[in-house]
Amino acid sequence: MPEKTSLLAETPESLAAFLAAGGQPAYRAAQILSWVWKKRAASWDAMTNLPKNLRALLADRFSLNPTDLLLEKKSADVTGKLLLRLHDGALVETVLIRAPRDDAPAAGDRLTLCVSTQVGCAMGCKFCASGLDGLRRDLDASEILAQVHHAARLVENDTPPALRDDRLPFDNLVVMGMGEPLANYDATLAALRVLNAPWGPAFGARRVTLSTSGLAPQILRLADDSLPVRLAVSLHAATDDVRSQIMPVNKAYPLAKLLPAIKTFASKKGRMVTLEYILIENLNDSTRQAAALAEIARDLHAHVNLIPYNEVDGLAWKRPPPEIQNAFLDTLLDARVSATLRREKGADINAACGQLRLKTERPPPPAA
Ligand code: SF4
Repeated sequence: MPEKTSLLAETPESLAAFLAAGGQPAYRAAQILSWVWKKRAASWDAMTNLPKNLRALLADRFSLNPTDLLLEKKSADVTGKLLLRLHDGALVETVLIRAPRDDAPAAGDRLTLCVSTQVGCAMGCKFCASGLDGLRRDLDASEILAQVHHAARLVENDTPPALRDDRLPFDNLVVMGMGEPLANYDATLAALRVLNAPWGPAFGARRVTLSTSGLAPQILRLADDSLPVRLAVSLHAATDDVRSQIMPVNKAYPLAKLLPAIKTFASKKGRMVTLEYILIENLNDSTRQAAALAEIARDLHAHVNLIPYNEVDGLAWKRPPPEIQNAFLDTLLDARVSATLRREKGADINAACGQLRLKTERPPPPAA
């Protein structure tokens, strides 16, 4: 029997042919998609305004969610992690980050969902757990959307019914989990279009940030895409000599190629790009790097997000002490660069990307 396809990546157009072949009226497509994305139905039986024979047809052809929720870990602070199993047994992780809303504390926490786009990653950044075992495979659009669907339902299960509505319960979505999203461009953009569609969750593209390690040609492609997502670039070093030590992508796309691509994106989209910069002790935390970063950020009119390194089992990199972190930030601020220093959330549940998956897939070390 052929494997079922997931309903999550379906569109009104793709459902039309299925409905016509089953002798069903075309207006059912809108009802089906509403059950999926507005009501986030957990079963076919929940779709009570669809006739039984249509529900049977749907169940025969489609799966509702192509992943199983294996584990939900809540951190003692404000981060939660979901571990999902795909049809081939591969594991993928999704992170939910809560932060107080400084501007409107009464409105509850700000929720950001971080999704993955690949199983593992081929980019091989030296500080990253996701790259340790290389790339296993790309996720398809429905597997990216499945992370959103599971996370939304979990948040809604914890929300009093009076406070729920048909919108996704997240303020922002960041495509920053496991994998390089621009190396899986088509599936990632297909998933983001479903999230943005009025017949889907209608999640504003401006609330979506896509993060890349610096694939310059794909940044230029994204600059020409009609979807107005935000861009974050993992810079992590301000000179080629240091960047090439920790990010192999810098050999293919050194700063002389990457920075003009970012500039083109910013000018075509009219949006400020964020430069992500993980501070690693004795590697990229020097005053020289801070000064070079300030120059880059000023030229790009970019915001800099400093992230003290979240230490990873099996990797030797360390987080700089707070006084070095603050001095680095001060160099940027003194140069009038828009910059923030983030306190990393979720350290107690291994929230550095890829760590939860690795711990689950790898057997524990033998006892001494
Ligand atoms: S930091 Fe991102 S791009 Fe680099 S190896 Fe990890 S997941 Fe891949």
